[in-house]
Amino acid sequence: VSRVPSTQCVEVAVIGAGPYGLSVAAHLHDARVEALALGEPMSSWQRHMPRGMYLKSTLDASSLSAPQPGSSLADFHEATGAGIPDERHPVPLETFVDYGRWFQRKHVGGLVQCEVQRLTATQDRFSISLSNGEEIGARSVIVASGHVGHAYLPEVFRRFARHENGGDKRISHACQHRDFSGFLGRSVAVIGAGQSALESAALLCEAGAEVHLVARRQSIRWGGPPIDPASSPLRPMLKPASPLGPGWSLFALSRAPSLVSYLPASFRIFVTAKVLGPSGAWWLRDRFSSEINVALDSEVEGLASSGERVILQLWRKDGSRSTLAVDHVIAATGYRVDVDTIGLMDSGLRAAVARVKPTGAPRLSRSFESSIRGLHFIGLAAAPTFGSLMRFVCGAEFAAMRVRRALTGKRLPRNFQNARVTMPRGPDAGAFQHVNE
Ligand SMILES: Cc1cc2nc3c(=O)[nH]c(=O)nc-3n(C[C@H](O)[C@H](O)[C@H](O)COP(=O)(O)OP(=O)(O)OC[C@H]3O[C@@H](n4cnc5c(N)ncnc54)[C@H](O)[C@@H]3O)c2cc1C
Repeated sequence: VSRVPSTQCVEVAVIGAGPYGLSVAAHLHDARVEALALGEPMSSWQRHMPRGMYLKSTLDASSLSAPQPGSSLADFHEATGAGIPDERHPVPLETFVDYGRWFQRKHVGGLVQCEVQRLTATQDRFSISLSNGEEIGARSVIVASGHVGHAYLPEVFRRFARHENGGDKRISHACQHRDFSGFLGRSVAVIGAGQSALESAALLCEAGAEVHLVARRQSIRWGGPPIDPASSPLRPMLKPASPLGPGWSLFALSRAPSLVSYLPASFRIFVTAKVLGPSGAWWLRDRFSSEINVALDSEVEGLASSGERVILQLWRKDGSRSTLAVDHVIAATGYRVDVDTIGLMDSGLRAAVARVKPTGAPRLSRSFESSIRGLHFIGLAAAPTFGSLMRFVCGAEFAAMRVRRALTGKRLPRNFQNARVTMPRGPDAGAFQHVNE
């Protein structure tokens, strides 16, 4: 961990040390660019995801990117003597956090484990205030601050939380939970039908809570397990493998994110929202207990308070209405990128960043640069430009290579083995298996 003299000016500052920040920092370090990563490695995985969680993406689709060989999640398993698990074993959250930190020690030269409190732009550089009181300057900045700041609560929940004294104690977003053990004996409504909602419901049930899952969908969708290639020789042609899962559309989105950026903005936004919609991983199905009360086809149209409890007013598409009283509501309602919610950026700087209208996401060039010269955004914030790949760890390589090329003016050396998005081993390996109703 580097110490930064209070007046230091670096070439590049990378804000955030999650999979994207660490990958771009590793590439810049390798290219001998003076780059400093700022943040605690893997902290959103460590602090904002529940204990007992497993990754939905498979081992092959969950590697960070470094130019040197030996940096993948499989390499980490080998290096730690654990042996490489097969694609049927989901990756535990704790293993992934350890892997990210191992990757950082191996590949990321300059790191300051501090929170960035303020990013401002001056005439010829950026100025960054750190939580340890130091100030640094940077000629370029890469914002890799991840998804947590973009947690989305629908208006009905926000309105209720605003009216309650003491704020939102009985209403929370899924990313606010690290440990469900405090819900033993309590009733909890989980809103949503994606992996986060389904896994939170399963974990809450295992922790001894009475769980109600409320979703607008007519049915819960589950992924299918990987299929043995030998059992279906035509499958690689009909459903080619990709890091996002099998199928031609996922294959195209993972192989050609730069082509996605040429599509009209409205189409890009539509595709990014629709592709890989809410579903649960195939291995979660058995863990999703029959004790979980499921209300499908149901929307929360209002919330009220009754003593300690929250009353959810539910509306079904057939026009019927009902109520549900619980101790707590967890909204697993996803993330919406908006530069205005990136609190570390100075308000003037936020206002100056051009957006992919009608979203609040930054408009980015082919090298992830925003309308502010030298200011780049990677990860989820880049999804409205480069598509669904940017929502997942497997997109880190594309982002890191593009940024590296933009900041060094050079392509990667020829001997770079992973010079494109790493493809999985089996035809059905990938972030998300095919979906069954
Ligand atoms: C519940 C859940 C499960 C998921 N499962 C998968 C999965 O199985 N596979 C997959 O590919 N994707 C998964 N995702 C998506 C996943 O979050 C992204 O793929 C991945 O984390 C993107 O990496 P990132 O570096 O952009 O963001 P993050 O991992 O969020 O990292 C951003 C980092 O920036 C830091 N940061 C933020 N603000 C500051 C600041 N002011 N100063 C310093 N540091 C700061 C954060 O603390 C964090 O460490 C999941 C997401 C959720 C919510």
